[in-house]
Amino acid sequence: MKKHNFNAGPSILPQEVIKQTAAAVLDFDGDGLSILEISHRAKNFQPVVDEAVALFKELLNIPDNYSVIFLGGGASLQFCMVPFNFLETKAAYLNTGVWAKKALKEAKAFGEVVEVASSADANYTFIPKDYTIPADADYFHITTNNTIYGTELLEDIDSPVPVIADMSSDIFSRPIDVTKYGMIYGGAQKNLAPAGVTFVIVRNDLLGKVSRYIPTMLNYQTHIDNGSMFNTPPVLPIYTALQTLKWLKANGGVAEMEKRNIAKAELLYNAIDNSKMFVGTANKEDRSRMNICFVMKDEYKHLEADFMKFATEKGMVGIKGHRSVGGFRASTYNALPIESVQALVDCMAEFEKQNA
Ligand SMILES: *Cc1c(COP(=O)(O)O)cnc(C)c1O
Repeated sequence: MKKHNFNAGPSILPQEVIKQTAAAVLDFDGDGLSILEISHRAKNFQPVVDEAVALFKELLNIPDNYSVIFLGGGASLQFCMVPFNFLETKAAYLNTGVWAKKALKEAKAFGEVVEVASSADANYTFIPKDYTIPADADYFHITTNNTIYGTELLEDIDSPVPVIADMSSDIFSRPIDVTKYGMIYGGAQKNLAPAGVTFVIVRNDLLGKVSRYIPTMLNYQTHIDNGSMFNTPPVLPIYTALQTLKWLKANGGVAEMEKRNIAKAELLYNAIDNSKMFVGTANKEDRSRMNICFVMKDEYKHLEADFMKFATEKGMVGIKGHRSVGGFRASTYNALPIESVQALVDCMAEFEKQNA
């Protein structure tokens, strides 16, 4: 049976990207060795990193005064590297979910942290809009897509201080104006690659300003100076990321992704809004195009486990909501075809017809 992969992360990748990765595991670059057993300094691996960086710059229109680097440690290590490298006295954070909160917690070890606004009291069902960013902060940290709650900040905000954004789960899902950010980072395992590689896009002039010693491995400058090769980078995930970047380019880039993602999200949100049985959990104006969260209305709540079973039998994978929200979450990342969303919509309608 065809599986429809709605996993939140690690998550769906384009089929051809998976095939290219599988081929490189058997024979990389036609030289008879697997990509798993070559040096990261091999002559034919350097072009993989170079091309991945070049495609990042091309697809996101990244200006020359920014660097793109690939690191280990996941987005979670960035929660500590960001303040290590940028927080001299004070930083501002927008608390829009568990990831944002974890980032904020780490920063407190390095200086004063201002939580400009929070939607924690509403279980993060919306993104606060009325807040003031302190003009004397070293940076302002946001999470553009809140993977767990299904809210997304679709606008590149104006800020008096450099904006640092966790874009783990919406990078490459739409065009962004990189010049409005001091830094963008994310774990690649949502929209780009298998787990194991983290991307960082950073404006060069922001570095080197804090007075503390930054351990070598935690210093962005180390990785910029060494082209992501100071130590052994995650070779295989970088290779897969390159295949996804090529796929993105061949499929019309981020502008086309945005169109497809809007169409997919509209299809599913419309089905939810027109349903007797299901209801969305996120504030409508803050709805994410990447993670679509919904629950059953109170009178049908007792049927959640039944629907889960029904959907699983029809090939739906990964639609269980995060344990802190409950219900269901369909992640509709770039690689997910609209046919899968249609299959889920049909499945919801069929279940509703039988049970409501
Ligand atoms: C998944 C996720 C993270 C955590 O990423 P790791 O690579 O597992 O550390 C952080 N932020 C957001 C927005 C995420 O979706």
